[in-house]
Amino acid sequence: VPTEPTFSGVTLDRAVEQRRDAGWVARRLSAPESRAVAAGREGVLLDGGGQALLRIAPGPAPDIDGEPILLGLEADSALFATDLDELEPGAAERLGQGARTVALREAGALLPHAEAGLAAYLVALLNWHRTHRFCANCGARTLIAEAGYSRRCPRCGTVHFPRIDPVVIMLVEHDRRLLLGRRAGWPSRRYSLLAGFVAAGESAEEAVVREVHEESGIRAYGPAFVASQPWPFPSSLMLGFEARSDGGEPRTRDGELEDVGWFTVEAIRFAAAEDTGELLLPPPVSIARFLIDRWLGRQ
Ligand SMILES: [Zn+2]
Repeated sequence: VPTEPTFSGVTLDRAVEQRRDAGWVARRLSAPESRAVAAGREGVLLDGGGQALLRIAPGPAPDIDGEPILLGLEADSALFATDLDELEPGAAERLGQGARTVALREAGALLPHAEAGLAAYLVALLNWHRTHRFCANCGARTLIAEAGYSRRCPRCGTVHFPRIDPVVIMLVEHDRRLLLGRRAGWPSRRYSLLAGFVAAGESAEEAVVREVHEESGIRAYGPAFVASQPWPFPSSLMLGFEARSDGGEPRTRDGELEDVGWFTVEAIRFAAAEDTGELLLPPPVSIARFLIDRWLGRQ
């Protein structure tokens, strides 16, 4: 059983102080030991073996808005981000030779833990830069600041930080059973934990209780935080909780779920072991599966 969810575990030093010094960033950009890792809308660029992100010399690769995006320091070498979608088609193709573009979910399953975390960080940051080029306050085009940590509006001075959307996901237990639901369009027989976005003016604990009731009619109580997971599809932060319930008959209510019900520990244990049968659990890359496996380990 893994000790923390996939996509966490970045070991990079984010160089929060140094990145404010444009001279230091420029020197790192031209240092021979510096590298860049690349991703686009289609996924992340892995090396031929598929065990790490492709690391390339950053110098010649044009960066978004001409400004480098620094991910951080790995030992003494700086690691930059390159957006494949910003490169000329020929340049992206040359970069991709001997490498392969892999969707982030798939990469999360392939890569060692810290490398998967780095892939998620890369994708999260590029997603945000790609979709937040204009000031939400005045509409002017914003500029990359702090080597990619923020964006600054040259007209009104507002500083924008990466958008992160908190989502609660909860393991609700009653009498050695878990409350699981399925959305329309999922692979058949796939069920997972209930989840939903935290609303404005709401605590994460309140969101757990509200979402469970909205999606199933079940009253959950005592939500306790367990672990979180960056989930850049495109910008979520999953907040994993456990909660209890007094049971009752779940029913779909708000149209988000196609089916919802209680599943026994035996059914869940069988599904976790066999990956076949009446119930398909979410894949190991998800925090839902992390929470389910953790619960199974205690039964
Ligand atoms: Zn502005």
